[in-house]
This record gives sequence, C-alpha cells and structure tokens, in this order.
Amino acid sequence: MSTEGDEVWKKTWRLKIPEKVKFFLWQCLHSALPTNQVRADRRLADSGACSRCSCSHETILHALRDCPYSREVLMSGGISVEWSFSVMDCFQWLKGIILHKDAIKLSITLW
Ligand SMILES: [Zn+2]
Repeated sequence: MSTEGDEVWKKTWRLKIPEKVKFFLWQCLHSALPTNQVRADRRLADSGACSRCSCSHETILHALRDCPYSREVLMSGGISVEWSFSVMDCFQWLKGIILHKDAIKLSITLW
C-alpha cells in the first residue's frame, strides 16, 4: 500500500479504541462493509437500496456519511458535515477522521 495508506494504517492500529472498532475501520477502508449495495451486487439481497432512507444505492459513504440518519449521528458526535461532504472518496474521508486530533471520539461515533 502507498505511504499515505501506511500512515492511515499505523494510526488506525495505534488508536486506543476497542478492537471491534478497529476492525470496522479496516472493513470501511477496504470497501468490505456489507452494505445493501454490496450485498445486492453479490446477489445476497434483492435490493441495494438504503433501508433507512430508501436511497437507491447504499454505498459505504452513504451508509456512513450521506444518509440523513447517519448525518444526524455524525453531527451529534462532532463530525462536521461541512468539511466531510467536500470529500467524495471514501478512503480520503476516513483518512481525515483517523488522522484527526479527535480520532478516538470520531471513530467510535462512526462505529
Ligand atoms: Zn440512507
């Protein structure tokens, strides 16, 4: 993985957070979170739609950030919607959270 990726991984594994949250971050960073869209693509679900807001494609970014229900949780946990929406790449968005000075709080909020 790239130097940029190395920095994110080192920080992720050093965070003093429960292992299950680290594993969750790992799944997100590897695009391995079983969202409805992923499940539908693998023919494990009939629909890739978000079950919370009925958006037609529940991608990882939708599930974590863009869904109106997720957005409320993020804002209550201190993740600014303004800066997060300017980043459209999932890895870059997660990198911003993991390398943030409040990464522990933000990671647990995300989980
Ligand atoms: Zn949604």
